[in-house]
Amino acid sequence: MLRIAIQKSGRLSEESLKLIKECGISFVNSSLKLKTECTNFPLEILYLRDDDIPGYVADGVADIGIVGENVLVEEGMQQLAVEQLGFSKCRLSLAVPKSADYDDISDLAGKNIATSYPNLLQSFLDEKGVQAHIHTISGSVEIAPSIGLADAICDIVSSGSTLISNGLKEVERVFKSQAVLISNQNLSSEKQQVLNKLLFRIHAVQRAQRAKYILLNAPNDKVDTISQLLPGIKSPTILPLAEEGWSSLHSVVNEDDFWEIIEKLRDAGAEGILVVPIEKMIK
Ligand code: ATP
Ligand code: MG
Repeated sequence: MLRIAIQKSGRLSEESLKLIKECGISFVNSSLKLKTECTNFPLEILYLRDDDIPGYVADGVADIGIVGENVLVEEGMQQLAVEQLGFSKCRLSLAVPKSADYDDISDLAGKNIATSYPNLLQSFLDEKGVQAHIHTISGSVEIAPSIGLADAICDIVSSGSTLISNGLKEVERVFKSQAVLISNQNLSSEKQQVLNKLLFRIHAVQRAQRAKYILLNAPNDKVDTISQLLPGIKSPTILPLAEEGWSSLHSVVNEDDFWEIIEKLRDAGAEGILVVPIEKMIK
């Protein structure tokens, strides 16, 4: 049985549980429980504070875990990273009061900066050759300037609305983060096998998230041109329609190229274009 540590409640919890479910793994989710055994996969879920996850995985209390890269790197545990998971994207940024004059990072020399991420901030300042006083506080960092505790802060930002509502402006991006899967470095071969199975499923889910299944109709004389536009996994599927002289083309397109391809397909004579989500995609 492989033990996975995920955040008990917070910004990583929902997406972490969703990923496990999308891998076809069933469990009874109760916010009161500290652990859950999955019913159809050899996995046990431990619910922890996110800060504790890298340490527990390094010690082998949990075998694997899901945590933000910001926490992982702050704790100096990046060697545990297996792969990025693409959710809980955010950045660690420096911010100063809206009214403060700020031209560049040298303006922070000798200033007091409040943060919950002293190590990430220190390496950023070192890299820029700036010396400042770092005050480590564990929460409510954004109010530090207004209560006179600091001249600037270094905190997690996603949309920036929390900064604005606290009268701050973002001035430097220190670190980019997303959720990452981590693993103990001495897994038994049995556990490694379970992890490989889980990774296989995670990859299928991730591929499917970026891909769309596309179906369209086209007159037979346009089929070649349209096929060129549809990359597909191998090549598009082409089926005759009941109506003489027409075909139906099926393929898979990447979300990133999606709108551009749709426009080209219409221009090339495609009709009745349907785009549907894909649940899993195995290569
Ligand atoms: P815990 O109680 O488990 O210690 P926490 O309060 O330290 O939780 P959260 O605020 O839930 O942590 O954030 C967990 C992680 O989610 C962060 O370390 C970061 O990687 C990511 N995160 C934080 N804020 C955001 C955001 N606004 N958007 C996306 N991801 C975020
Ligand atoms: Mg925390």
